[in-house]
Amino acid sequence: MLDLAIEERKDFVYTKSKQRKALKCDTDSISGAVSQRACVYCGARVVLNPITDAVHLVHGPIGCASYTWDIRGSLSSGSELYRNSFSTDLKEQDVIFGGEKKLTKAIEELVQKYRPRLVFVYSTCVVGVIGDDLEAVCRAMAAKHNIEIIPVQSSGFVGNKSMGYRAACDSLLRLIEPRRGQKIVKRKNCLNLMGDFNLAGETWIIKEYLNRMGLALNVAFTGDAKYETLKTATQASLNIVQCAGSMMYLAKKFEEKYGTPFLRVSFVGIEDTVESLRRIAKAINDQSVYEKTEELIAVEMEKTIPVIQEYGKALQGKKAAVYVGGGFKAISLIKQFKELGIEVVMIGTQTGGPEDYAAINDLVEEGTVILDDANPAEIERFTLEKGAHLLVGGVKERPLAYKLGLAFIDHNHDRKHPLCGFDGAVNFAREVYSTVCSPVWKYV
Ligand code: SF4
Repeated sequence: MLDLAIEERKDFVYTKSKQRKALKCDTDSISGAVSQRACVYCGARVVLNPITDAVHLVHGPIGCASYTWDIRGSLSSGSELYRNSFSTDLKEQDVIFGGEKKLTKAIEELVQKYRPRLVFVYSTCVVGVIGDDLEAVCRAMAAKHNIEIIPVQSSGFVGNKSMGYRAACDSLLRLIEPRRGQKIVKRKNCLNLMGDFNLAGETWIIKEYLNRMGLALNVAFTGDAKYETLKTATQASLNIVQCAGSMMYLAKKFEEKYGTPFLRVSFVGIEDTVESLRRIAKAINDQSVYEKTEELIAVEMEKTIPVIQEYGKALQGKKAAVYVGGGFKAISLIKQFKELGIEVVMIGTQTGGPEDYAAINDLVEEGTVILDDANPAEIERFTLEKGAHLLVGGVKERPLAYKLGLAFIDHNHDRKHPLCGFDGAVNFAREVYSTVCSPVWKYV
């Protein structure tokens, strides 16, 4: 019996049973419930901020700009410009008289100081309310300085975090649009990776796998992406999409506009990594790629499986609660926990869609609580009720776990070690083992 604090939340939560029920998801949060989701602007920033040589200018009060690289941890192989958070710092006077002059001045200053080729200007709530014409300011400044200045329509109140992903993808589509009359030449065996943000160097791990398979990574959206490489995005012959929540829209637009097919993948956990590598090889359909892929899998499995099994011995019968941003990660985590002998007893996401929840339902055991767009009270209640030994989440779930005296795994954007691919699976198993089996729990 799900006795929730807010009646309207009951369609967003259910316990798996023989009778399948569709979960309400992919919609705005219920008023009165403290959603774990971030706002539209934050969603846009998640997607665009890893572009390393761009200026990211937040047009709004200084508070919005506190969402910076420091809590994201995407790595760069070159420019460090993206690690700065620039803001127009709108004040009361600007709200009354408009902020366009201040925005123009800020762009002038940034262009003089950093000479960027690309500037993103993010709209925030107050800008949406006062109605500054971002398009006009960006167009005028882009023409003046002969660089790309792209507005991101991400006022916090226009929807939920998913709207921010979409606003970011629309800005990316503007950026990669070929010049009028420019011919698109597809490069064989050349892929774009979508929905990977190079946290702790994860894009580089996937790139290395692709290279070992005889394939080339053209550009990642947006881990370690640069202006120059983003401009070549239409040349890829296949898009592989990891974080579908943030990038499926972009992948579909690519297919529609440039005829580039896409494939959903996940490099979280061994099972999904192996399956994804094989699916990529199948899509490329080249005997030599098949062979190299199988060789890569065999070499990595030989190194990885014994380590996972060793950690798994100490973890049999433990239970996990999972609350993450996107559906792909939740699905992969259920499988990854199974590899370690751990049952997932509560699982939810911020932005999962109906397909994600159908897959989650098929993977979990009866009695597992599945919930969309949860609030802290629900996470706390179901984590405790289901007897979880650890909680997996991000920066907003961490204090909850600590307050409950529970083991915690950070699977979000501020972590410092990779959790993708074979090496990531080992890191994950080690981290789960060391937190769940820590002697500290004896003293709680
Ligand atoms: S003011 Fe609006 S845009 Fe800024 S952080 Fe809050 S919700 Fe997001």
